[in-house]
Amino acid sequence: MKVPFIDGHNDTMMNFENGVKPFFKGTKEGHIDWPRGNRSGLAAGFYAVFCPNPDTDPLPVAYKTEKGYEKPFPRPLSYAYACEYTNKMVARFLKMEAESGGKFKAARTVGDIEGAIAGEYMAGILHIEGAEGIDKDLHALSVLYEVGLRSVGPVWSRANAFGEGVPYRFPSSPDTGPGLTEAGKNLVRECNRLGIMIDLSHLNEKGFWDVASISDAPLVATHSNAHQICPVTRNLTDKQIDAIGESNGLVGVTYSINPNMVTEDGANNEGAALTDITKHIHYMIGRIGINHVALGSDFDGTRVPTALKDVTGVPKLLNLLKEEGLSRDDIEKIAYKNWLRVLKETWKDNS
Ligand SMILES: [Zn+2]
Repeated sequence: MKVPFIDGHNDTMMNFENGVKPFFKGTKEGHIDWPRGNRSGLAAGFYAVFCPNPDTDPLPVAYKTEKGYEKPFPRPLSYAYACEYTNKMVARFLKMEAESGGKFKAARTVGDIEGAIAGEYMAGILHIEGAEGIDKDLHALSVLYEVGLRSVGPVWSRANAFGEGVPYRFPSSPDTGPGLTEAGKNLVRECNRLGIMIDLSHLNEKGFWDVASISDAPLVATHSNAHQICPVTRNLTDKQIDAIGESNGLVGVTYSINPNMVTEDGANNEGAALTDITKHIHYMIGRIGINHVALGSDFDGTRVPTALKDVTGVPKLLNLLKEEGLSRDDIEKIAYKNWLRVLKETWKDNS
């Protein structure tokens, strides 16, 4: 089933350290490139600017406990390092548009995304995952907005000047530490003012409720699943899911299995079935309705089940939803209509 879709999160830019030409030509590695995306219906995606720790940062499963794992926070990043890295990644994003020959457009308006849904080009939404590269006075935020930034996750699973993400722990509640700092609260207000989406994925629970109480935009978790099914810190409790629904926001369901956010065992489970992913989709629909569920792969930022493989597996996932009883309209809502509604409201964009 080929339906155009908007994907809530990828780390694909990390794969193009040596230039973006292979993205357009196609590569055998990673989860997303232009040809595979285009073939599968990937109309638009959130392209993350993520600053990795400069020292080694092993996967969470390296920190085994009796029942699962508990990874400590990686070291905080220095502003100088994060700022330089952020500029490098944003420049790469701009290069993707510039070198695409019209095949890839940086989405600055909802109209830009509608063009992608209509098949005119592929669109990328510039996202920052962990705002270490933004100064506390938020000067960089205004500059980045002008460049095309339209989505910010204040924290990754790390502590920074704005708040704390959840450390990777399984099994564990997402209530792992303090809420947003004053700078974090200002960041939320300024994102609201500019019309930048705030991403709740990776925030700890107190930070989540801080955003919920301050923000005037629909609440969005771009790549998170149901904690009730897979009790990892990165997933959302029922109360959080309900708040997202009540705000007219959405959850982008993720396929991440290392760290595992899909199956109840929490282990590295590349053998997970596509039904293990759709289980989260049905669970969310059951709680908050079809209008508040979307896709948020985390492609190229994690491993995904072998059954899905890469972006070319998404049509299989949508097919499965059809077999499981969802109508064409339901599937279109999950694939792109819900994202369009939320972005229209959040970007304060009347185009
Ligand atoms: Zn992430």
